[in-house]
Amino acid sequence: MKSDENKGARLSRQRETILAELRKVKTHPTADEVYDMVRKILPRISLGTVYRNLDFLSSRGVVLRLGGAGTQKRFDGNPAAHPHLRCSVCGRVDDLEYPLDLPELPVEQSMGYSSLRCDVEFVGVCPICAGKDC
Ligand SMILES: [Zn+2]
Ligand SMILES: [Zn+2]
Repeated sequence: MKSDENKGARLSRQRETILAELRKVKTHPTADEVYDMVRKILPRISLGTVYRNLDFLSSRGVVLRLGGAGTQKRFDGNPAAHPHLRCSVCGRVDDLEYPLDLPELPVEQSMGYSSLRCDVEFVGVCPICAGKDC
């Protein structure tokens, strides 16, 4: 089926572009910010397509989805476990450059979970927010 092939090719091009743009930055963008980046290359892409592809990529461990309950999800093109700093005021996320030993969970304690990763996040107030008067 010709049209299905075209559709498949377009989907993978969208996904590749989203992944490539996400890997270019270290800012841990939100889905909306990824959409703004990708739209410069693929002007006709929809926000829904960007959301769906980010979900797909993060559920398969190709990218990381960051952010706890109640905060806007941010995405990280680096899927390896690495510690983060997060600002509790503006939500900005930075990679922590200081090497930390991340804890490891013995297999017999993992309650049947596989592909486990340890997310380490230090939460505080970033220098920009700390400098602002409220
Ligand atoms: Zn901040
Ligand atoms: Zn990161």
